[in-house]
Amino acid sequence: METGKRAVGRFAPTPSGRMHLGNVFAALMAWLSVRSKDGLLVLRMEDLDTQRTSADFASVLRQDLEWLGLGWDIETEPQSCRSEVYDAYFRKLEERGLLYPCYCTRSQLHSVNAPHLSDGTYVYPGTCRNLKNPPAGRKPAWRVKVPDKVWEFTDLVQGDYRLNLATECGDMVVRRADGVYVYQLAVTVDDGEAGVTEVVRGMDLLSSAPRQMYLQELFGFEHPVYAHVPMLLAPDGRRLSKRDLDLDLGVLRQRLTPEELIGHLAFAAGLIDRYEGISAGELARNFSWDKLRGDAIYLDSAALTQN
Ligand code: GLU
Repeated sequence: METGKRAVGRFAPTPSGRMHLGNVFAALMAWLSVRSKDGLLVLRMEDLDTQRTSADFASVLRQDLEWLGLGWDIETEPQSCRSEVYDAYFRKLEERGLLYPCYCTRSQLHSVNAPHLSDGTYVYPGTCRNLKNPPAGRKPAWRVKVPDKVWEFTDLVQGDYRLNLATECGDMVVRRADGVYVYQLAVTVDDGEAGVTEVVRGMDLLSSAPRQMYLQELFGFEHPVYAHVPMLLAPDGRRLSKRDLDLDLGVLRQRLTPEELIGHLAFAAGLIDRYEGISAGELARNFSWDKLRGDAIYLDSAALTQN
């Protein structure tokens, strides 16, 4: 990790509903990491999907973060307002001859011809890389060519991770056929322009890190440090999600104080040895990444919902 430079972390929520506990935990860890070293925290609304997100959800999200005591220093422009900025980065890729139009339909992409990985994702086999006769009248998505190279990094929580984009991902879509830029491009540009030095988020995004590292290199941004925090699971092993409405913040705020909620999360994650109500500020005083294990965190949701 670099020394002598102020740490810059970020919250990058998608304002598509009330935060659930997994989101709260990821936000708490991002906050603790930055605050424990007097860094700067950036808030950014990831609202590329304008169908699912709204300004109302964004304002509730801000209120929830404030209620939790997880304040931020600056809020940067929401992604939905930045398509011209993303255009400029798209052109950089185009000028380097790294882009090509892709006309594959959803069903072609999911067909048996595409090798599927164990997690259900597919490797794009490069069908349109050298297309001679593009179909007329259809708008293409745009893909960036990926090199046959292994991307490696040491995640602060998950340890060493490596991924070869050519064999485990394939050429990546950077702009969809409807003109909307994809998450990987937007996040790389936004984190890079905000000077983010550490990315703390849920474990489900671990395999996005090498994709973003590749784009960072193409755009001339430094790689941040990564920490992918474990998922929260119910005692029966189920992943807590936005569907667990009884565990979203709207309900939990009526039952618990912020200190009680943070205390439950901190205890389940091993940040404190026994349950007690505790504020994020108090937790930051003794925070260390060493305390967090990489495996799933089982949360006794009954403790949160009983009253
Ligand atoms: N917007 C994503 C989410 O809400 C997080 C993306 C990121 O942290 O890179 O899950």
